[in-house]
Amino acid sequence: VVNLHVRGIDREARARRLAGNAVAVEVTGLRKSYGPQAVLAGVDLTVRAGEIVAMLGPSGSGKSTLLRCINRLEGWDEGAIRVGGRFLGTDEAGRALSPRDVAQMRAGVGVGMVFQQFNLFGHLTARENIAGPLRWVQGLSRLNADRRAQELLERVGLAHRADALPRHLSGGQQQRVAIARAVAPGPSVLLLDEPTSALDPELVNEVLEVIQRLAVEEGLAMVISTHQLRFAGEVADRVVFLSGGRIVEEGPADQVLNTPRHPLTARFLSKMS
Ligand code: ADP
Ligand code: MG
Repeated sequence: VVNLHVRGIDREARARRLAGNAVAVEVTGLRKSYGPQAVLAGVDLTVRAGEIVAMLGPSGSGKSTLLRCINRLEGWDEGAIRVGGRFLGTDEAGRALSPRDVAQMRAGVGVGMVFQQFNLFGHLTARENIAGPLRWVQGLSRLNADRRAQELLERVGLAHRADALPRHLSGGQQQRVAIARAVAPGPSVLLLDEPTSALDPELVNEVLEVIQRLAVEEGLAMVISTHQLRFAGEVADRVVFLSGGRIVEEGPADQVLNTPRHPLTARFLSKMS
C-alpha cells in the first residue's frame, strides 16, 4: 500500500498561507440546464493558487459538468468563471470557437484537464502524446517539446515507456501519461475528473501517488472529483460536496469527511465507507 501521507505538513499553517494566495479559479452563480433539468443550480466556488480541492458527490450531481465548464469544454446559461482573474469564454451563449482557439485560450489561462478515460491519442507514443500538443498549441520546437515530454515522463515514472503506444500501457500508466500531458504546458490549474475511476483497483495507488507528488512539488491549484475518500482526506486542503448541482457543504477536508454538517454529506459518506 502506498503511503499517501504528506509528512511534515502543518495543515493549519498551510491553510493560512493558502488563504493569502491569489484566486486561481472563481466560479460565481453558475447555472446550466439540459432542457428542464438543472444540472448546475447556482455554483459558487473559489480556489486559491496552490490549493487542492476534492469534489465529492453522488453520480449525476454535476461534478463533471462543473469541471468541463471551468475548462470551457461546455458553455453555461448563467454566471461567470474566472481563471487567474481572466474571464474564461465571454461567449457563454454558446458561440462556436474553433478547437484551435479554445485550445489556445485554455493554454493561455493555464488550465489542464485529466479525464476518467485518459483520452490519449491512440496512434501516438507516450512521448508524442505530450510533445505533440506542446508543438501544436504551445509552439515549442520539436527539440524542446521532446525534452519537456521526457522530463515529465520521468516525473511520472515512465521514462522507459516513452516510445510505447497507449494500447501497450496499463491503465495506470496511460493515466500517468495523461497527467504528464496535462501538466506539461505549466498550467496554474489542473482539473481531474475521477482520474482513478476507470482503473483496476491495484492500479489506483500509483496514479494517486503521482497526483499527490505533483500537487506538493508544483504548487498548482487542483480540483479533483473523486470517490477516493482516503486520498481526499490526505491530499486535499478542502472538500466540497455536490448534490443536485449545488455545493451543499464545503470546508477543510478533515471537517467535511469526519464531522459533516449536512445530512446529505453524512449519508453519502456513510454509504461510501
Ligand atoms: P457527475 O459527474 O457528478 O456524475 P454529470 O455532470 O456528469 O454528473 O451530470 C449531471 C447531470 O447532467 C446528470 O443528470 C446527467 O444525466 C446530466 N447530463 C450530463 N451531460 C448531459 C448532456 N450532454 N445532455 C443531457 N444531460 C446531461
Ligand atoms: Mg462525472
